[in-house]
Amino acid sequence: MVVGTPARLTVLSGPSGVGKGTVVAEVRRRHPDVWVSVSVTTRRPRPGEQDGVHYHFVDDAEFDRLIAHDGLLEWAEYAGNRYGTPVGPLHERLATGAPALLEIELQGARQVRKRAPEAQLVFLAPPSWAALVSRLAGRGSEPTAVQERRLALAQAELDASGEFDVVVVNDDVARAADELVGLLTVPSPGLVPGE
Ligand code: ADP
Ligand code: 5GP
Repeated sequence: MVVGTPARLTVLSGPSGVGKGTVVAEVRRRHPDVWVSVSVTTRRPRPGEQDGVHYHFVDDAEFDRLIAHDGLLEWAEYAGNRYGTPVGPLHERLATGAPALLEIELQGARQVRKRAPEAQLVFLAPPSWAALVSRLAGRGSEPTAVQERRLALAQAELDASGEFDVVVVNDDVARAADELVGLLTVPSPGLVPGE
């Protein structure tokens, strides 16, 4: 029996505005060694977002090329833009035996479940619907119409939380970050001594 094998690939998902980026940034602040995949997207950068740091910002032609060349582990269209996980850097990271974290939306998490069933799927949930609405509005990064589009998707995403291995409630950033760090290093289910 394999003992103490770490859950090597963890996927963090959850509705827009729940605080995924904030919690992941807190995890990295405390543990700079935690590796987080940098996605490609056709979305325009928000103020302060840096190419190659927050995302690789690409045009539609480049995104098509990545799909055609099997360059993405998964990809999805979300609220009018496309997002995907570059497969090369992720495989390089996993080949070293070290954990990796993806922060992606629901359709992508489902694709990862199919392609890498050993991955650990974590859902970040808001403490309440009202908190989600106020966080998305409070971030102020999208016009109201885009916020409404994201909230309509959020309801379906919340309904899918049961598909995930673990639900972490983002009531408090530091507490949620602690819980996520714990999950990144927990042995995979079925690989625990005595099971
Ligand atoms: P996501 O990446 O899931 O779209 P963000 O990380 O951008 O969400 O967070 C959306 C907004 O909610 C931000 O303004 C952020 O500061 C705020 N936020 C995140 N976590 C919390 C929390 N636990 N309590 C209160 N506000 C939060
Ligand atoms: P945002 O535009 O707010 O940065 O991201 C919108 C949504 O896309 C978020 O739910 C985010 O988790 C998701 N996302 C970011 N990168 C990826 C990715 O590589 N693949 C998928 N499927 N979703 C992603």
